[in-house]
Amino acid sequence: MLHRRQFLAGSAAFTLGAFGALGFAPAWAQNAPDLGTPSLPSPGFARLRIGDVDIIAVNDGVARRPLAEGFVRDVPLAQVQAALSEAGLPTTHVDISFTAFVAVMGERRILMDTGNGSFGAPTTGRLLANLQAAGIAPDSIDTVVITHFHGDHINGLRYRDGQTPFTRAEVWVPEVEWAYWMDDARMNAAPEAMRGAFQNVRRVFGPIAGQVRRFAPDATLMPGLRAVSAHGHTPGMSMFEVESRGRRFLNVADLSNIPALFVRQPDWAVSFDMDPQAARAVRRKILSMAAQDGVTVGGYHFPFPAFGTIRARGDGYDFTPVST
Ligand SMILES: [Zn+2]
Repeated sequence: MLHRRQFLAGSAAFTLGAFGALGFAPAWAQNAPDLGTPSLPSPGFARLRIGDVDIIAVNDGVARRPLAEGFVRDVPLAQVQAALSEAGLPTTHVDISFTAFVAVMGERRILMDTGNGSFGAPTTGRLLANLQAAGIAPDSIDTVVITHFHGDHINGLRYRDGQTPFTRAEVWVPEVEWAYWMDDARMNAAPEAMRGAFQNVRRVFGPIAGQVRRFAPDATLMPGLRAVSAHGHTPGMSMFEVESRGRRFLNVADLSNIPALFVRQPDWAVSFDMDPQAARAVRRKILSMAAQDGVTVGGYHFPFPAFGTIRARGDGYDFTPVST
């Protein structure tokens, strides 16, 4: 019963995020106090060398939302505010950043996740401009790999006009994620508030359903690039690991939202974590591994340039940005 309630709470929380994807203003936006506008990184791209591979962080923008009870599940607001204060961050709101990564591996250019496209907050949707600024034309991307099917990660694959900017790219997605979201019976049985998220997945992938390549959990996608299964945030979320000349880069996707909260306190779960228990378990496992092995990580919602390392502190971890 408890599990069921958690699941429904998660659906409702998640769907608030998905409203943006469908073109409705989220309820909080209508009477929200003026929280100002988040500043966007300039330039909106940054490069990191991993062995022979260039990893380019490409920012899609930042969305500001009021900090409310429930953003972190089952943790009193005052405790969340204290954690933000400790990190030197404001306590009235949170700035959620969106950063995709491009791996340049020999002749190949692999884009990992696609940003909000034309469906997010007005301070998002910068991915294409920042790709151009980094010297990467969208039609030079040959592979798009997707971590999971939340709108902020897939909407940039198909704009409002139905077109994709990545005209030459093959699209690869986690097969477990595909099976979950593309199941019509599950969509029809889902609470009304969650149905939009299922429909959005069909909007994005429907026109290319026959061509999308689905990969198995932990599959090797090509030499030097493998999927690392990390379900919890969503049923089939995958991270991506690049390895070159003994160096590793792990794109952890939404393993943690804001690191000052969820890397620091791995047992805290953001409202968007669909299965909070599984999300906590995989967060602990991966953070421990990253700290031990000194892996460079990149996180979709980490503050730009979103690269860093993980170090154990007390019962949790610190995220230390890597300068690029
Ligand atoms: Zn996300």
